[in-house]
Amino acid sequence: MSKYIFVTGGVVSSVGKGITVASIGTLLKSRQITVSVQKLDPYLNVDPGTMSPYQHGEVFVTRDGAETDLDLGNYERFIDAEFTADSNVTSGQIYSAIIAKERRGDFLGGTIQIVPHLTTEIKERFKRLAEKSQADVVLIEIGGTVGDIEGQPFLEAARQMRKDVGRDNVLYIHVTFLPYLTATQELKTKPTQHSVNELRRIGIQPDIIICRGDHPISEGIRDKISLFCDVEREAVIPLPTVSTIYEVPLVLEEAGLGQLVIDRLSLKAKRTDLKQWQELASRLNASLEPVNIALVGKYVELQDAYFSVREALCHAAVYHNRNINLLWIQSEDLEKDGGDAPLRSAQGIIVPGGFGVRGIEGMIKAATYARTNEIPYLGLCLGLQVMVIEFARYTLDSTKANSAEFDPTTPYPVIDLLPEQKRVKDKGGTMRLGNYPCQLVPGSRAAKAYGQSLVYERHRHRFEFNNEFRSQLQEAGMIYSGLSPDGSLVEVCELANHPWMVSCQFHPEFGSRPSRPHPLFRDLIGVAKDVLREGAQPPLPFSP
Ligand code: GLN
Repeated sequence: MSKYIFVTGGVVSSVGKGITVASIGTLLKSRQITVSVQKLDPYLNVDPGTMSPYQHGEVFVTRDGAETDLDLGNYERFIDAEFTADSNVTSGQIYSAIIAKERRGDFLGGTIQIVPHLTTEIKERFKRLAEKSQADVVLIEIGGTVGDIEGQPFLEAARQMRKDVGRDNVLYIHVTFLPYLTATQELKTKPTQHSVNELRRIGIQPDIIICRGDHPISEGIRDKISLFCDVEREAVIPLPTVSTIYEVPLVLEEAGLGQLVIDRLSLKAKRTDLKQWQELASRLNASLEPVNIALVGKYVELQDAYFSVREALCHAAVYHNRNINLLWIQSEDLEKDGGDAPLRSAQGIIVPGGFGVRGIEGMIKAATYARTNEIPYLGLCLGLQVMVIEFARYTLDSTKANSAEFDPTTPYPVIDLLPEQKRVKDKGGTMRLGNYPCQLVPGSRAAKAYGQSLVYERHRHRFEFNNEFRSQLQEAGMIYSGLSPDGSLVEVCELANHPWMVSCQFHPEFGSRPSRPHPLFRDLIGVAKDVLREGAQPPLPFSP
């Protein structure tokens, strides 16, 4: 039977609860304990698929096509596993399931209530994941902070679990934040005390408190939290801010969290081995030669919108023993005259996924810049569509070539909806989502990168390459290096007369791992690192 760890948050959000949960997963996996993870999101949306990236950050797509919270990406990267739709539960899903049951007549005669109906539905999701995964430990992160009105049913369900599955099979971990007062130069524990009080009011006494802080956390502070929050001193775990997220498992291990969890849940564990993480952290902290990569998108003000892309670039740079220097470029800025100045120091360009017309012309300019200056380019989903539009404008000698998404009346819809998508009316969960196979063409840059001929990659888009333009663009030098096995869909394309301009209709960033960079990101950095940028000194010729 699985054991459960519930992780709640106190004081403020955005202190890295997701990374902490992912790191607990790392510590358990490193002891050969199997883990599965679930994120509970208290909002009323069924999934984050229709939310703006400014509201929510990246939408992470699972292999089975669920649009989920970006924390699932961290769980997959840190635990090196693939999770499914069962790993993200929202209040919207719970309410719609309950209301559908009520309409069907499942509760005839009864009054439907938060307790027990909603909480039972929530607990079924916990238990379903445990059953399906057969994991030793199911880690459950409750989104938001204790006290949020929408989060109450999730906390109540978590409380009931201790009674349902037994005291020794459930652990409650609370992640809080210790604010720093500059005037008195001290960290304050009062907000933590209040959030623990709030948890207790609901009936949850935390077993472990993880304290985030931007300053070193003294022994005195640990004592104080231990006393006021009624938690053993060894169970007050300091987690000061570190320079890379990949250090977090090491800091938590050093503070004794791994062993503590093992002891408290009486798990049978092997000796831990975090060598791979130590090496990763030391490479990320070393000052290595940087590679300048321009990320041209429209949500760049919120870097979380491109979380997996940033991480995939970082994994690839580590592989090549380099540091990544990301140039965040707002695509609208490129639309101004002389707007390509920010691209001049780029050794590689990425155009990531996105929706809507804003900033598209700037992205197209970035693709023109990459093509004409022979700068390595990787297009991800929308980035492929942008590369195709740019190449079509050049080949057909018409600025009218476009995607039907951005110009429904274009005479050259090189990117268009498939007939089955034209019939779709609902916006939520109706795109091409999740894993689809892609057959790679031998000899292409894409096939070389992957080193295999059939790959499965995750999709999230409505529009596709329009096959009516296939032969025309092919004659001009576009290579279709990845196709759906029946040949009907273009999944990867590249340019023949360019060092490395490769794009994919899927999202390879979701599959990258710290120890296993995704092949396309790895090769982008591999080529980009040797590109000399404006002002860079070329090596002197050897004279005997
Ligand atoms: N907007 C494009 C489409 O729907 C691309 C989507 C994406 O980049 N994820 O096809």
